[in-house]
Amino acid sequence: MARKELQNVLFQDDPEGPRAPLVLDSPHTGRLFPEDFRPAIAMEICNRVNDWFIEDLFGAANRNGAVLIQALFRRAYIDPNRDTADLDLDMVDGDWPDPVSQTEKTKRGASLIWKLIDGETRIYDRKLSVEEVNLRINTYWRPYHAALKTALDDTHAAFGRVLHINCHSMPEMGDERWGDSGQRRADFIVGTRDGTTAGAAFTDTVVAALGAQGHSVAVNEKFKGVELIKRYSDPAAGRESLQIEVNRGIYMDEANILPNAQYDDTKAVISEMIARVAKLAQAR
Ligand SMILES: [Zn+2]
Repeated sequence: MARKELQNVLFQDDPEGPRAPLVLDSPHTGRLFPEDFRPAIAMEICNRVNDWFIEDLFGAANRNGAVLIQALFRRAYIDPNRDTADLDLDMVDGDWPDPVSQTEKTKRGASLIWKLIDGETRIYDRKLSVEEVNLRINTYWRPYHAALKTALDDTHAAFGRVLHINCHSMPEMGDERWGDSGQRRADFIVGTRDGTTAGAAFTDTVVAALGAQGHSVAVNEKFKGVELIKRYSDPAAGRESLQIEVNRGIYMDEANILPNAQYDDTKAVISEMIARVAKLAQAR
């Protein structure tokens, strides 16, 4: 593995052996809150927001010829899985100069720059200046997107196609914000924005591999995929992107942020899925 680092922004791990036309990215495992974050609440509350261990669970990428990119900054500071236009203007002091197009994420307090932790705890007791917001976009969001786009474009140029897996985790249990309060979520939820970002062969391979050891796998249920798979997919042009949400209940103790007894089994299932997808990508 050859690791490139863009300081404070991302790691990019490139395979050393033969390449497969496969790129993975983990946008929500970063641990860094830059100094200008300045929340009004305790950092311990902000620190809990993370797709814990996902970069490790998908760590088989390089062994299978794939590139793996992971963000180093926290999603609550700026979320790379949102469009820059998905900005909550209530949080901005002064006139925002660019177009705004809000989504349902705004209502949940989880748009480009998060307003709320867990949909209820306000992060700031101040508004952010236009300069602060632009600094976050230009220093973190844009370089992350540029690296992912370059990896996808380079792979597509070399192979004439590229498969992209966008890697996430979700809380074990549903909640009111998502209308599934008290229900245990599926072990994995695969998102293709209702079939628009990836074709059937890619989706079916992922679903079959994740379910091979008896895990429940849902497709396009609640978590259908957001900006990163939307922006870079174009199935007709040989660019397919798909999101995977791993249920934290099958790999970690969410309260104590520690791997649980199922961690190694879950990692083995994900590793096998990556191997099958790499084979599919190479065979085409
Ligand atoms: Zn995530």
